[in-house]
Amino acid sequence: MKKRNTVQKKVIFSALNARCDHPSATKLYEDLREDNPNLSKATVYRVLKDAAEEGAVLRIHVGSEDRFDGTVSGHSHIICEKCHAICDTEFPLKAVSDLEEKSGYRVRSRHVEFYGLCPECRKEAAEG
Ligand SMILES: [Zn+2]
Ligand SMILES: [Zn+2]
Repeated sequence: MKKRNTVQKKVIFSALNARCDHPSATKLYEDLREDNPNLSKATVYRVLKDAAEEGAVLRIHVGSEDRFDGTVSGHSHIICEKCHAICDTEFPLKAVSDLEEKSGYRVRSRHVEFYGLCPECRKEAAEG
C-alpha cells in the first residue's frame, strides 16, 4: 500500500513538472488516467494538497479552482481573468531590491500575481 502510494506520487509529480500550464488536480488526473488506470482523482488531489502544505508545490487559487505548480522557486504569474490561463513570468529583481531599500525589510519569498487578458482572449474580445 505504502509502496503503491510512492509510485503514484512519483507519477503525479513528474507529470506536474513536465508541464507549465499549472493544471488543476482534475486536469492532471484526466491526463494521467489513461496510462494509470489505478490512479484515483482523490489520490491526485490529496497528493497535491499535501505537497502544497509541505511547500513542495505551489497552489494558486484561480476562479473557483486550485491550480498547481511544480516550480516553487521565486517566480511570478500572469493570469488570464477570462480563460484562467496561468503563465510564468519574472518579477524584476530590481523592483525587489528597491522594495527592500524603501521598507527596510529583507524579502525572503515573493509571489506576485498579475491579472489581465491573455493574447487569445484579447483576440476574441477584438473580434467579438
Ligand atoms: Zn485567456
Ligand atoms: Zn508557475
